[in-house]
Amino acid sequence: MSETSSIALVTGGNRGIGLAIAQSLKTAGHRVVITYRSGTPPEGFDAVQMDVTSTESVDAGFAKIEAEIGQPEIIVANAGITKDNLLMRMSEEDFDKVIEINLKSVFNMTKAVQKIMLKNRKGSIVNMSSVVGVKGNAGQANYAASKAGMIGFTKSVALELGSRNIRCNAIAPGFIETEMTAKLNDDVVQGWRDSIPLKRGGTPEDVANACLFFASDMSAYVSGQVLNVCGGMLT
Ligand code: NDP
Repeated sequence: MSETSSIALVTGGNRGIGLAIAQSLKTAGHRVVITYRSGTPPEGFDAVQMDVTSTESVDAGFAKIEAEIGQPEIIVANAGITKDNLLMRMSEEDFDKVIEINLKSVFNMTKAVQKIMLKNRKGSIVNMSSVVGVKGNAGQANYAASKAGMIGFTKSVALELGSRNIRCNAIAPGFIETEMTAKLNDDVVQGWRDSIPLKRGGTPEDVANACLFFASDMSAYVSGQVLNVCGGMLT
């Protein structure tokens, strides 16, 4: 939130876009806490194991962060998954899972962090949406619904918390080259590339740069917005 060191929390900060964000925030001087599900988190950050879909797990994680590290002023809700299929073939389980991990997690994290931010009367909340949440995408009805839901949630939270100096914004990345997109077939990847005016996929660092803006006072008068980081795909 400030140009001085703050505590920043990044969900899914162990790889991909989340890791790039964690690294950028650290380079900018913040103390970065990443949340992870399982396995060994990368070195160089404080790490807290948390199931972002569980209220109990999130509350326990926040209690640990407050007791052992301090009170976050910046939170980036980045954890997310895809389970793509045409609606005709999409199972109820795959619909629910994507909504739970991508959207319910944002509710859980925001509920927990707002208590801290309201007390401190400052904070920056950044939610990782997607261009798919803005424009839709065949084969991703579940994912698009979750990411569009995040945008409505973000705008509502910005309205609720603005008077307490808490900002809430969303980033909508386009096609970013990570493990998530590495599993797409070549035709789909080519289709994405062809639709990008800047003629390249984005890097996790491209998204991290947008996040640095929202985390800093450079965006002190920006709230309730969606920043498309998509090489010009959406205009
Ligand atoms: P990756 O698949 O590379 O990483 C996903 C991250 O989310 C991992 O850290 C993963 O943790 C975490 N995660 C997944 N499920 C859970 C869960 N149940 N609980 C906690 N953490 C979980 O994806 P990206 O880095 O590409 O994507 C990051 C975010 O950006 C996502 O929200 C995605 O929807 C969004 N995005 C990505 C785009 C892209 O083109 N790549 C485009 C637009 C948006 P673990 O290692 O434990 O699985």
